[in-house]
Amino acid sequence: MRVFERLDAGHDWAEDEAAVIETVARLAREEIAPRASEFDKTKAFPWVNVQAINALGLNGLFIPEVYGGAGMRYAVYIECARLVAAACASTGIIWSTVFHAIKPIIDFGTAEQKQRFLPKIAAGGLAALCITEPDAGSDATGMRTRFIPEGDRIRIEGGKRFISNGDVADVFLVFGKWSEIDDPKASISALVIEKGAEGLETVRLEEKLGHRAASTAELAFNGVSVSRDNLLKEPGQGLSILFAALNKSRPSVAAHALGIARAAFETGVNYINDRRQSGRRIVDFQGIQFMLADLATDLAMCERWLFHVSEMLDNGETDVGIEASMLKMRASDLAMRAADMCVQLHGGYGYVEDYAAERYFRDAKITQIWEGTNQVHQQLIGRSFARR
Ligand SMILES: Cc1cc2nc3c(=O)[nH]c(=O)nc-3n(C[C@H](O)[C@H](O)[C@H](O)COP(=O)(O)OP(=O)(O)OC[C@H]3O[C@@H](n4cnc5c(N)ncnc54)[C@H](O)[C@@H]3O)c2cc1C
Repeated sequence: MRVFERLDAGHDWAEDEAAVIETVARLAREEIAPRASEFDKTKAFPWVNVQAINALGLNGLFIPEVYGGAGMRYAVYIECARLVAAACASTGIIWSTVFHAIKPIIDFGTAEQKQRFLPKIAAGGLAALCITEPDAGSDATGMRTRFIPEGDRIRIEGGKRFISNGDVADVFLVFGKWSEIDDPKASISALVIEKGAEGLETVRLEEKLGHRAASTAELAFNGVSVSRDNLLKEPGQGLSILFAALNKSRPSVAAHALGIARAAFETGVNYINDRRQSGRRIVDFQGIQFMLADLATDLAMCERWLFHVSEMLDNGETDVGIEASMLKMRASDLAMRAADMCVQLHGGYGYVEDYAAERYFRDAKITQIWEGTNQVHQQLIGRSFARR
């Protein structure tokens, strides 16, 4: 697989960045990957993996130095997210969700808010990003959670659905509507709830097709009260925070999807180099080679685009919404295609739990749904070409 080896080696990492990536690659390969199947089967939250990630201080990758992190480039985080997801998709999304929830605090929080929330995340805390509600999925503006100002406090009423890390997070970034603003979009606001807040309840955990070791919670806010100091920016500025946050979380979930895609591709290719039928290796059949050619080509292109978008963000570009949508849509479709091909290349063995192929297949599906379904991304990309 020299093409992919060259692709991996082709990044221009600084010495300290290369050292971090090599350490994460080793952690992924030697510790996280060997445990993935067992965590998938038992559906147990992979605390040992979270501890291993924290032992290396990896949350610090995306937290500025002044708040206890290492403040590395976005591209470094992206490469690490890809490696962890390739080893265990559940562990990958647990870690990436911390980034998704914390990045808006880094970008939009006051110095006081950052001082309060970031050091505990740098030290290994978990976080959750709370947007989706039962009647507000693709159209997040339909959310009903209400933020009701009461003097110097804010009361939160409502609930959220499908919240990754929802039962284990230390910090929750929650989007809801400011009760004093009528307009459904202009009222959207964002605030932070901390673990243990009275009235913050985990209603249930989902039983899922894939990502079985990662928890997905339904949350209720029954009169949770937080200080007004927990509000990010001003009332009604939540939608701009949300859009800016998605520009950074969508490449992150794309990296996650590409991790699954690469793992599925390599697993399938390794298998067919050994497996023989009709006196030949499966890889020697031309019909199989055509499948590999198509997928490998698309995968290589998409991995380059991942780092193109990362570089834009590292260069301070903020108008990356369409590039990020293209990336998220294609990366997740590739995860699904690669996982499908991995099962197919394994024949009947791809359908049974003794092999990783069926886990990749189950894990890949959600990547086409979360962080904006691919239909939503098609719409965003397509309409960007219509003249205003
Ligand atoms: C395992 C898991 C983890 C998740 N983690 C989080 C999390 O941490 N935080 C969070 O806030 N949310 C999370 N989500 C929620 C996820 O982001 C939503 O499920 C997703 O946005 C889709 O919303 P929905 O499920 O309500 O589907 P719907 O919006 O009801 O969509 C149903 C179907 O209709 C299509 N559709 C909808 N609108 C359009 C349109 N305009 N044009 C064309 N087709 C359309 C969709 O593409 C889809 O095929 C998670 C979900 C899961 C399953």
